[in-house]
Amino acid sequence: MAELEKCIECGKVIKDESHAPYCKVCDDKLDKQFDTIEDNVIIFKELLDTEIETLKKFETEDIEEFFKRVYKKFKADGNLNNESLIVLNKLKDSFGLVESKMGIPQIAVIKETKEDKLLKDNKCPGCEKEIQKDFNLCPYCGYKINKDFKSKY
Ligand SMILES: [Zn+2]
Ligand SMILES: [Zn+2]
Repeated sequence: MAELEKCIECGKVIKDESHAPYCKVCDDKLDKQFDTIEDNVIIFKELLDTEIETLKKFETEDIEEFFKRVYKKFKADGNLNNESLIVLNKLKDSFGLVESKMGIPQIAVIKETKEDKLLKDNKCPGCEKEIQKDFNLCPYCGYKINKDFKSKY
């Protein structure tokens, strides 16, 4: 008798093979995580390294579809700005995606700079002290946090 296939996530024997190599419970859980990651990317334009690890459990095709949905959503919302492009580039690089294979135009290569990273961690890029994201200027060193901020005085 052939050995029973076990779920690669929890190690339990797979009863319903339509979800292999996962059991139904883990497959559902992963699908939910996938949806949550997609929401995070679309809403917060953020893709954490732990989320990339989760996405690695999926097929490349799933990731390509994911990339296309996110890209189209950003584009439809007129939101294809640097922040969006950084997260798209991160996704693209992590999975070696190619735009032409996905039937979408090549996206501009914009990587997260040290400055972006500090701001994301609520730190001033000028003095690296803790700040709040909605500050226009750093209260410690005067660094212009909000690039669109124009002093009225
Ligand atoms: Zn499982
Ligand atoms: Zn500062």
